[in-house]
Amino acid sequence: MSLTIAILGRPNVGKSTLFNRLVGKRLALVDDLPGVTRDRREGEGRIGTLRFRVIDTAGLEEAFDDSLEARMRQQTEMALAEADVALLMYDARAGLTPLDSHFAGWLREQSTPVIIVANKCEGRAGEPGRLEAYELGLGDPVGISAEHGEGLVDLKDAIEALAPERTKRAGRDAAGEEAEKPLLLAVVGRPNAGKSTLINRMIGEDRLLTGPEAGITRDSISINWQWNGHPVRLFDTAGMRRKSRVNRKLEKLAVADGLRAVQFAEVVVLLADATQPLERQDLVLARQTLEEGRALVIGINKWDLLDDGPEVMRELRYRLEQQLAQARGVPIVAFSALTGRGVDKLMPAVIKAYKAWNIRVPTARLNRWLEEMTARHPPPLVNGRRFRIRYLTQAKSRPPTFALFTSSGGELPDAYERYLVNGLREAFGLQGVPVRMMLRKSH
Ligand code: GDP
Ligand code: GDP
Repeated sequence: MSLTIAILGRPNVGKSTLFNRLVGKRLALVDDLPGVTRDRREGEGRIGTLRFRVIDTAGLEEAFDDSLEARMRQQTEMALAEADVALLMYDARAGLTPLDSHFAGWLREQSTPVIIVANKCEGRAGEPGRLEAYELGLGDPVGISAEHGEGLVDLKDAIEALAPERTKRAGRDAAGEEAEKPLLLAVVGRPNAGKSTLINRMIGEDRLLTGPEAGITRDSISINWQWNGHPVRLFDTAGMRRKSRVNRKLEKLAVADGLRAVQFAEVVVLLADATQPLERQDLVLARQTLEEGRALVIGINKWDLLDDGPEVMRELRYRLEQQLAQARGVPIVAFSALTGRGVDKLMPAVIKAYKAWNIRVPTARLNRWLEEMTARHPPPLVNGRRFRIRYLTQAKSRPPTFALFTSSGGELPDAYERYLVNGLREAFGLQGVPVRMMLRKSH
């Protein structure tokens, strides 16, 4: 599920009541973060057709013995790292308290979008309290009654307005295969790498490209297609180039088209010619793909022209890793688009990379993994002091982005960060996918 919502607020405002209403009986996951807190509740929430993962922070405060504010901040920090949208809840009958305001101020400085939710608004008793929250500068306060189930449609609208991309995605998850959004796939590469030949091979015969046939439609730059029941929208950069009449060198133009297609795509197939593989422009496209946060699969075409395939493949891997460290472990598929031999291995590699790109690793699992990693190699000394790692959560997917909470913020030595990132790739199958790590200072 790709939309994650955290419910935040001081005790007794109704967080648990809302959580229960959103999740109903669908309580799915319970995470325990080693050494940090006791259980935190997570579940699969729903309002109408909108589905999401919801994290309830209620009850965490008992686990700490600092001030209430410090406790709230700590629980919030953790939930926020994982959330796409935060609901800051307060009790509209009681009105805003200084603690609510203080909390809102802090949340405004974070990058996660916030919806201010005025609870206990059944009847009219909450209205004056709801209006007070305009002064927080977090937009229109959404009045609800968690207990009576009122105002949830407004809440849904507010969520969809803040996270349009995410809610569309979540819609796909909810509706299952039929309404599945297409996987956005681009095939890029230098001129004559064989992009057109490959695309024709993948989607069927040449004639299918010229007229709309069952299941395939195309506009100037993209082709809607199904692979094994998965809808795919294929960006055809060779097709783009033919459409354009701009007078520039072909090579540059193909790369420029490729770079543009990378922006649209979720997975990029970089197609290289086996007889002149991975030249500078290929590496530019590969680097750009990963820097843009897209999943990458390398296709080596014209395999039929080689007699020393395995030797060439070893050489390729070596060169790739020398010249583009981020591309370590990227899937490489060799085939002949012309004869069709080996092309059937391409789409399974694409789907696998797409799944890895969308992965959500539960926090409990990550922290068990982290414990093993730090036990095997303890974090280094920084300025004579042991660098303390507190915990790890996955902040986002598409691409997978992790937040590492540490005692001292952004000073983790590069080598240790690489150790963790490479370890994450190994442990969770993230080959071909950019993995991002953010360091956060934990209070
Ligand atoms: P939490 O500590 O934020 O999780 O708050 P709870 O969900 O435990 O709710 C605190 C109290 O507020 C409980 O007594 C709830 O029954 C009550 N409550 C929750 N939502 C509403 C609501 O919409 N209207 C009213 N009147 N009471 C509510
Ligand atoms: P594009 O510019 O990347 O779209 O490349 P094309 O698909 O137009 O192919 C360029 C040339 O390479 C054409 O002459 C193709 O027939 C040839 N070609 C494409 N794939 C293969 C292949 O797998 N093996 C061989 N031997 N030739 C190929």
